[in-house]
Amino acid sequence: MSDTTTISIITTSRFDDHDIRGDDHPEVATRLRAINERLRAGSLAPLLRYIEPVEAERRWLLTFHSDAWLFRFEEEVLSGRSCIGHQDNQVCYETFGVAQLAAGAGIKGVDLVENGAGGPVFCAVRPPGHHAEPNLPLGFCFLNNCVIAARYWQERYNRRRVCILDFDAHHGNGIQTAFEEDPETLYISIHEHPSFSFPGTGYAEETGKGAGEGSLLNIPLLPGAVDRQVLAAMDGTVAERLERFRPEALVIAAGFDGHRLDDMSGLNYSTELYYALGERIGKWAGAFAGGRVLSVLEGGYHLPSLAEGVEAYLKGLHVVSAG
Ligand SMILES: [Zn+2]
Repeated sequence: MSDTTTISIITTSRFDDHDIRGDDHPEVATRLRAINERLRAGSLAPLLRYIEPVEAERRWLLTFHSDAWLFRFEEEVLSGRSCIGHQDNQVCYETFGVAQLAAGAGIKGVDLVENGAGGPVFCAVRPPGHHAEPNLPLGFCFLNNCVIAARYWQERYNRRRVCILDFDAHHGNGIQTAFEEDPETLYISIHEHPSFSFPGTGYAEETGKGAGEGSLLNIPLLPGAVDRQVLAAMDGTVAERLERFRPEALVIAAGFDGHRLDDMSGLNYSTELYYALGERIGKWAGAFAGGRVLSVLEGGYHLPSLAEGVEAYLKGLHVVSAG
């Protein structure tokens, strides 16, 4: 299928099975329902096609995670634990399988892009992934969906130069861990400054290690930052770095918790920002990455803003791909 007007949403109602009882935890099943209801009611509705993911095979999880963590994750979940390591990382009996499905959505997405999906491909998944480390969960994340998609892209399709661009309000420490010593990859993150925000990494001085020097571009913004500052960084440093790096594929860690109504960060973004980001990302994917771009949901906890943000982002992406 090469119809550029189609928007592919990779999701499944099985993501709801990662249900951590009660609404005191922000990473709730209703997040995806809010997104899907909004998309189905809006002007993009006739363009949507929904695709079910399958669980990622263990060998792809092992491109980033340790065997020890995967065994521990499965074991703790099946033993009936309600969280792993910290109250943030709440689990239920189904969480391991659901997390494998979220990682599998990214893999399915890469296949779709490579097989000529044409229009935007968006993985509406949970649990999110960018804080997950090789050996441990963090910040609601258990498996690093974006890193696993990037490694799959490299190994399955030999697209070695992969860039992950992350506009979630928080720094993706797990993605940084994956890429900081790897000269073939690039991680770009725009996030709330680590002195004020979880997880406390992502200072501008963190640029990579050893052979991976230059593989990280961290752009921290002070609390209160607005759209204008994000777009100035995107049109300046980010565009320059992408032009130099020339990625063969782009993975977008798409988080919507920088919205001014989302109390998970002190950032002050508007919904319109996500349209502008979609437009730029679509344009750069065409200019620098042969049109190969996959977006994967990360954060976003104020449900109406999350749903509107995703819709605006997809409209921005779609305008370019249909353009
Ligand atoms: Zn976040």
